Amino acid sequence: MALPKLKKYFQKSESFIVERAKGSKIYDIDGNEYTDYCLNGGANILGHANRTVVLSAKKHAERGICFGSLTKAEIDISHYIIEKVPSIDQLCFVNSGTEATLSAIRLAQCVTGRRHIVSFEGMYHGFHGLVPMAPNPANDDGYVLSFNNVEVLEKVIDKNHTEIAAIILEPVAVHMGIILPDPKFLTALKTLTKNYGIVLIFDEVMTGFRGFSGCEQSRLDIVPDLTCLGTVIGGGFPIGAYGGRSDMMRRLAPEGDLYQMGTFSASPVVLRAGMMTLRLMNDSFYHALNQKAERFVSEMNGFFDEKNINAHIVQFYSMMSLVFSKKGCCNYQDVRASEDVPLYKELVQHLFLNGIYFPSIGTEPFFFSGKHSKKDLKILSDVMKDFFE
Ligand code: PMP
Repeated sequence: MALPKLKKYFQKSESFIVERAKGSKIYDIDGNEYTDYCLNGGANILGHANRTVVLSAKKHAERGICFGSLTKAEIDISHYIIEKVPSIDQLCFVNSGTEATLSAIRLAQCVTGRRHIVSFEGMYHGFHGLVPMAPNPANDDGYVLSFNNVEVLEKVIDKNHTEIAAIILEPVAVHMGIILPDPKFLTALKTLTKNYGIVLIFDEVMTGFRGFSGCEQSRLDIVPDLTCLGTVIGGGFPIGAYGGRSDMMRRLAPEGDLYQMGTFSASPVVLRAGMMTLRLMNDSFYHALNQKAERFVSEMNGFFDEKNINAHIVQFYSMMSLVFSKKGCCNYQDVRASEDVPLYKELVQHLFLNGIYFPSIGTEPFFFSGKHSKKDLKILSDVMKDFFE
């Protein structure tokens, strides 16, 4: 079948056109089955088409899809998230992670009366123009710094703080492999933002509710002013949310002067599916899922060591990333130095031919869901080992 000229990020081959997905499996229109380790960018943490979530969405769709007014669904999920994330006093729902980070930045600019934004190389906050990006030569709206580099951070902020509205970052970087923050870097962030009145925005679109019922910030001894959420909190439906200090959130209309609205935001269908998903992700769900990933990673890393293969897998709960080096990375430069794009492409092709659907970019994470079975993971490790051997 000839494909129209569509640009698809995860397209593995011309013949891979998805028809449906269920649990850990995804099926193309020719009936081929693949085990899915992309899970729509990690959104389908329960596995595809979870029956309880689908039934909930169906039930609520029949009562009306979107109203542009407050619903009980919005109140319920807001209470739930606010209780689990202490830094969030008030919350606002949007339709994607992109909108969440865009809105948080707009709010930070409004609150501070400043324009510039500091971001970190290799992180992703969505496809809008408010985050300064390294490949954009016209970076006159902010600074793109190196993650975990305290010296450069202090120097740039000390010099330019009067123009800086916000610093935005993923507390754990997940789009350049997986990189944990250096505690000294977090301390510097905390001190600088507090001293200079800069808004600290944590983008927890990927890390929020990923490994436990809450946000990563609570494990890092740092309290951001604003937090962005998305991905898993919508139960597979389009969602984003941002929230934080009530003095800041009150600047939004109707209480404040920053007018923000979204036609499709806070659809009760999406929010009920999200609420159901959050409820299903109880402690024992997270425990089992994280353990599954831990066991897999320990087996694969044992294999890489034993065979003296220059690779290892980095794990963050059920999110993992394969690195072609023995050494951990601490910033984007390290990641670029250890990248082997042709080898990773070959691996993805090998997996695909063996019925395994994997992210086509090596710096993007792969995911396990609650529905990935022992058998799925045994096949994955066998096929991976076969490739490396
Ligand atoms: N922030 C982070 C950390 C992300 O990973 C992503 C993409 N998943 C976004 C923002 C943008 O989210 P969305 O794709 O929902 O617009």
